[in-house]
Amino acid sequence: MTANKSFDCIVVGAGSVGTPAALALAEAGLRVLVVDRFPSVGQGSNKRAIGGLRATHSDPAKIRLCLRSLEIFATWRERFGDDIEWNKGGYSYVAYRPEEERTLKELLAVQKTCGLAIDWLDAGALLEVIPDLNPAGLIGGTFSPDDGNASPLLAVHAFYSRAKKLGAAFHFNERLTGLIMAGGRVAGVRTDKGEYGAPVVINAAGPWGAEVAALAGIDVPVSPDSHEGAVTEAVARFLGPMVVDIRPVTGSANYYFYQHATGQVIFCITPSPSIWGMDVRETSSFLPMVAERMVDLIPRLKNLRVRRTWRGLYPMTPDGFPIVGWARELEGYMLAVGMCGQGFMLGPGLGELLGRLITGTAAADDRETLTYLSPYREFMGQEKLK
Ligand SMILES: Cc1cc2nc3c(=O)[nH]c(=O)nc-3n(C[C@H](O)[C@H](O)[C@H](O)COP(=O)(O)OP(=O)(O)OC[C@H]3O[C@@H](n4cnc5c(N)ncnc54)[C@H](O)[C@@H]3O)c2cc1C
Repeated sequence: MTANKSFDCIVVGAGSVGTPAALALAEAGLRVLVVDRFPSVGQGSNKRAIGGLRATHSDPAKIRLCLRSLEIFATWRERFGDDIEWNKGGYSYVAYRPEEERTLKELLAVQKTCGLAIDWLDAGALLEVIPDLNPAGLIGGTFSPDDGNASPLLAVHAFYSRAKKLGAAFHFNERLTGLIMAGGRVAGVRTDKGEYGAPVVINAAGPWGAEVAALAGIDVPVSPDSHEGAVTEAVARFLGPMVVDIRPVTGSANYYFYQHATGQVIFCITPSPSIWGMDVRETSSFLPMVAERMVDLIPRLKNLRVRRTWRGLYPMTPDGFPIVGWARELEGYMLAVGMCGQGFMLGPGLGELLGRLITGTAAADDRETLTYLSPYREFMGQEKLK
């Protein structure tokens, strides 16, 4: 294979995970190729995300990865100059019923042990942070001030530009069609445009993760389900943190929303039951469903006009945790799929972890992180803050 067709690592997917992974690998001095079926970076689920970034999770693995992601997002502009619209607004999970109060309080211990800045605020203190919350029945909520939001497209583009500057190659409009194997291990990939050699391939194909793994004969439990998002007109700032309400009601599970620094409110909701499949056409049921819940929570939202809705895919796993690690079935094949509703916030921290795994520099806490995300776990539990 000629030099421009031979790499140290090939990443499938220039999305929320594949792009920062390529950056981390290029930073480590590896020759990296990224292939993506779409015409430019971030055109899969990445651009459908609403931009929420939190380390407020229920397990040490995601907390650790996202604490690192937050550092990268928060310092990107001062380190590299690109404005990725990072905004440290914090996150608040609100409780109106003892069930949610109990769940959220139970998680505080693990969250604090992992170094997350988070506290429980009773109703009065929470109303000082979010004055427009409906006070009727409010018990309180968590507030994690170091979480925030950023633009998924500006961020992925910034990671892409820097990865390219460091020598990573990106091939767009090119679809992976097969694996090349030699001696029972990965030797490269086949696409609809050609063949490339590499001893390591990372599957970061998001909602298409199972389809891409099947090309290598590997079965991974990733199934896309669809979620809708929307953005309103811009109004004067009135809301600091991302607000998350995890109460399940008929037709929907949690929903979350925040006010962008430029004034628009951006929101989405988890339909219940889930809507499985690849269909991303908007529905007529989304806005009435989410608007009723949001206006109940913050009554003054009723005055806002919605400008646009869209629908995108969560790459879901049975327990709501990502699937990350070397495939046992095929040496040289790395899985980084099943990011569920958190691929944007996991991306930069996970990208660095993938870099350490591939360069053989993983530390003890990386190994602990990987036990939570192992492709070979039982998939029995359920993520509490998916
Ligand atoms: C409405 C909505 C709101 C969301 N809000 C948030 C949020 O606030 N915060 C957050 O962190 N996450 C959020 N998410 C989830 C987030 O968008 C996903 O978890 C994340 O984008 C998944 O990243 P990924 O890199 O795994 O997949 P993607 O970003 O989809 O990247 C996968 C890439 O693989 C490429 N690919 C697939 N198959 C092939 C092939 N055969 N050959 C070549 N290329 C291929 C695709 O073209 C794609 O570009 C939201 C999602 C939705 C739908």
